[in-house]
Amino acid sequence: MTSNLKRRTFISLPIACGIAATAMSSVSAQGQKEQRKPEYDVIVVGGGYSGLSAAVAASRDGAKVLLIEKRGRTGGDGAISGGVFQTYRTPLHDKQGVTQNVGPEDYWNRFAKGLDDEPLQKVRDNTPNSPIYDGINKHNPEVIKKAALMSPEVMKFVMDYGIEFMQVNPNMPFRIAMVAGEPAKFAAAMLNELKERNVEIMRNTRVQSLIMDDGRVVGVNAEKKNGQKLAIYSKNVILATGGYINNEYLLKRYKRYWSALPSFITGLDDPTPKDRTGDGIMMGKAIGAALEDMESMAKFFSRPKAGTPPVSWLIVDVEPAYVVSQDGKRVTDENKARYSGICLDLIRAGYKHGYLIIGSDTVQGKNNRRFRLDDVIKGGGLFKGDTPEELAKQVGLDPKILRETIDRINKDAAAGKDTEFGRTDPFFKPLKAPYYISAPAYVGIYKTEGGLEVDPNFNVIRADNDQPIPGLYAVGAGCGSITSRHSEVVASGLIAGKHAAEQAKKN
Ligand SMILES: Cc1cc2nc3c(=O)[nH]c(=O)nc-3n(C[C@H](O)[C@H](O)[C@H](O)COP(=O)(O)OP(=O)(O)OC[C@H]3O[C@@H](n4cnc5c(N)ncnc54)[C@H](O)[C@@H]3O)c2cc1C
Repeated sequence: MTSNLKRRTFISLPIACGIAATAMSSVSAQGQKEQRKPEYDVIVVGGGYSGLSAAVAASRDGAKVLLIEKRGRTGGDGAISGGVFQTYRTPLHDKQGVTQNVGPEDYWNRFAKGLDDEPLQKVRDNTPNSPIYDGINKHNPEVIKKAALMSPEVMKFVMDYGIEFMQVNPNMPFRIAMVAGEPAKFAAAMLNELKERNVEIMRNTRVQSLIMDDGRVVGVNAEKKNGQKLAIYSKNVILATGGYINNEYLLKRYKRYWSALPSFITGLDDPTPKDRTGDGIMMGKAIGAALEDMESMAKFFSRPKAGTPPVSWLIVDVEPAYVVSQDGKRVTDENKARYSGICLDLIRAGYKHGYLIIGSDTVQGKNNRRFRLDDVIKGGGLFKGDTPEELAKQVGLDPKILRETIDRINKDAAAGKDTEFGRTDPFFKPLKAPYYISAPAYVGIYKTEGGLEVDPNFNVIRADNDQPIPGLYAVGAGCGSITSRHSEVVASGLIAGKHAAEQAKKN
């Protein structure tokens, strides 16, 4: 491999999802060395939040940028996401007078210990009952720290496009959600800026491999949907290709237990293309890049069958909401476990799905808009019942057991003592009749963490010597040195885009 890298080499990427790793190792040297002039300063591969922000940062710095996107649309998962950003003190906090204990040290202390956010809780040995490690397990925690501490700058970057956020929740001051509809607007706003800056955008084009010259990445090989093959040269390449929930090989190789769970975005039996295949990770791996955090727990969420409108279990962060299993019983402290931890606890108890229960005050309350509760009710995703028995009948649960569960919640919450799971949060309150119960929500994998290892400039590093691979960056959910949450995803794009543009000026 090393000797091949001395020449210009084309590293082929098996593009169909689920192709075995052995095919990955085919490396062919293509003829004599020829000097091709780079056509671009920066090629960004992938047009999700990380790729768009990288392209914006590079073009703002005067770089000639090409953005290549395999789908017909840009925006990636960010555009369809819940739009929750992690950050410490911003003008939004100041406006609401939430100014105590929300500084960078407060944020980093919680962040580093994994206290504020379940994605930093890793199950490392691929079994559901293995201990959860709280905190950062990165080779170089400085990378994630740099991205995390940039979060107020990220918030400014987002809000400068006119994107609106909900009120800061003083109980969870480090998480701020966008207003419904804004996640897609943010992606569209970045795209508009790129167009205004005359950045070239090539859609329906899949990058398949990296072109190397003397140990340096000098371009990409790509294929358009119509079969046309392209070799495009650039001073720098930023891989922003996202996670790998649809890459059977990577899931089985690194997340053995979790690979048996369904992976979906819109719901169980998701009809959307299974194209979250970690292409950048595979391309980097093929040229000897280091990977990190690949064994971290896959991230779960719950969704009903595709076509049924969902109520996100993020609602447990901000409302009195409870989740019961197929047996009609609670499985955990919902607020502490959060959406993904509830899923893990359901899996641990042997269940495949659960049901969310809320009261009428939530349906009539201020979070109705954020969770589109009226639309979910109209669409058949949330059912009403005056009594627990009526509620149980709506979804086929045992009425007697559900009655016992709801009576116990209401009694415990009125007394301020959760006798089952010890909930102590301010949303541990009685449910107000009439009650609402969701359609069954199935547990599945919706995103991964782990990917290419980078240095603090988001330059990808080699596995054999820990040195940066010149010309190659990795950002977003395909970068293993950060988490796959918006704040760090966007921060990584901004850092890498700027750095790549600066490097291009020097080369
Ligand atoms: C339903 C849902 C809700 C979420 N909610 C939140 C939330 O509230 N808060 C939060 O912090 N995170 C959330 N996340 C996670 C977050 O959205 C993602 O981790 C983040 O958006 C990833 O951005 P990205 O740019 O790294 O990758 P992606 O958004 O996956 O973008 C990658 C892009 O690269 C393209 N691409 C891939 N391979 C190639 C190739 N070979 N050639 C060319 N193009 C390629 C893809 O088509 C895609 O457009 C959510 C995710 C989902 C699915």
